[in-house]
Amino acid sequence: MTLVWHDARCLRPEQFPAYEEAHTARASRGEAVLGFVRLARCALAGALEDPQRALRLSYIGDRFPVVRRLTGGGSLSLDPDTLIVVLALPAGRYAAAAPDSLMAAFASPLLAAIRGCGADVAFAPPNDLVAAGRKVASAFLTRRAGVVLFEAVVPLSLDVEELLKTLRLPLEKLSEQGLLAARQRFAPLRTLIPGLRSGPLRARIAAETGRALGLEVRREPPPAVGLARPVGPDDRPPPDVQAFLKTPGGILYLDVWLDRGSVIREARFTGGVACLDPGLFPRLQGSLGATDVAQAESTLAKALEGPPPDIIGVAAADIVYLGHLCAARFDVGRRLGLAAATQISTFSPDRGASVEAILASIDAVLLPYCAKPTWCKWRHRDGCPECGQCAVGEAYGLARERDLTVITITNYEHLRTVLADLKGRGARAFLGVCCTDFFLKRDYAFIEAGVPAVFLDIGGDTCYTLRQEEAAYAGRFEAQAYMDARLLQRLLDWRDRLAAAPGRREPPSSCA
Ligand code: SF4
Ligand code: SF4
Repeated sequence: MTLVWHDARCLRPEQFPAYEEAHTARASRGEAVLGFVRLARCALAGALEDPQRALRLSYIGDRFPVVRRLTGGGSLSLDPDTLIVVLALPAGRYAAAAPDSLMAAFASPLLAAIRGCGADVAFAPPNDLVAAGRKVASAFLTRRAGVVLFEAVVPLSLDVEELLKTLRLPLEKLSEQGLLAARQRFAPLRTLIPGLRSGPLRARIAAETGRALGLEVRREPPPAVGLARPVGPDDRPPPDVQAFLKTPGGILYLDVWLDRGSVIREARFTGGVACLDPGLFPRLQGSLGATDVAQAESTLAKALEGPPPDIIGVAAADIVYLGHLCAARFDVGRRLGLAAATQISTFSPDRGASVEAILASIDAVLLPYCAKPTWCKWRHRDGCPECGQCAVGEAYGLARERDLTVITITNYEHLRTVLADLKGRGARAFLGVCCTDFFLKRDYAFIEAGVPAVFLDIGGDTCYTLRQEEAAYAGRFEAQAYMDARLLQRLLDWRDRLAAAPGRREPPSSCA
């Protein structure tokens, strides 16, 4: 077999799906194909990503299109000075290879080519190429219809500000300091190799790939490709229940829509994960159809019996636990009389404690400063004299009348100090109020502290909502979040009933 390759084409983003299809069609006929493309400004969503969760669609608007690639992993903000490498091969000997070893194997010729151009880069699992800890490129992989498709996205230069506006990242990163810190996280190739010419780099990648695969290389003209429709808005109503789990392979979400009370009408897995088996999630979604949501965990456990799922950094146990979280959220919603319990999550360090066990044991309530009014002199300080003008004051009252410790978290370092202190004095659990984005991005602080928690999500303007772009850019954006004090009261009332119940179970001792 020969590796046929073609040089860079500049495509409209809407042509990229057809370009991928052209590669996979040839590989399915037994050819090995390598190509390079550059796309006009766009957002490139991972195969399983929900653009609403991954991208700041309010910013993207009509500025540029969102297109979806065939490979999984996170969504990207692309500008034309980004080289995309697309390699398609007959699956053959790669059909049964473990996803992570396959990723490392396909990334190695790319590493060799970049090193050959003068930059010292290394592979950082699960899918990054890095130089001294800074991201140089991302690699993605899928297996479908007898074909292995490997893609690498290599920014030659990078507009970090556009990236931060395009992806759902906190607005604090758009401040001058935030931009500086974000720039330190990336190392676009032209910063590592001044005067880099991309033509020789592409030729090296082709030669190194041929060498690694043991194939002769032959250059040919790039294919002609048509247009696909950009990703449109999802017009389904919001899901009745949602659950999420951060795994080493990325964040995985499970959304379900219900029929007849608690029977699942439709289920959907999304996330920035790389699944090499395109049939897996449709099969799991199908298994959940017409099932009672209370059975989501056992249904997924049964559907996942057998060989481990073909996903990078996600275990079968993670998917099963997601089913458990979904059922638990539904149960919490029913007990609290909510139409959808999308605002309440639990964190159990060993996944063993139920929401009741955690709630019954809470010793402290942590509140975010962003739910205090912007004009309040207590906004950036711990404490509140309960002046009666906001929901945070009500929360203080509810906690104090139960003799619970109540603290306003003023920044991330303060959170870490408070969590260490809670752990140090043997707190059994806490109730935290924060936005879901914060919990997902900073989960390691909670994991490190290891104290079980129930989280109440906040709404309204958050650090991740881009409404005042110019102010955000200048670092003056002041998000004022909405905290549902009535829901907090219902949670605490439930906690009182649970704590008073005879013979209640403590959460596992490892949490104390
Ligand atoms: S209740 Fe507390 S936080 Fe809210 S405005 Fe009054 S002093 Fe500020
Ligand atoms: S909890 Fe508030 S301050 Fe913290 S990240 Fe979310 S919106 Fe920002």
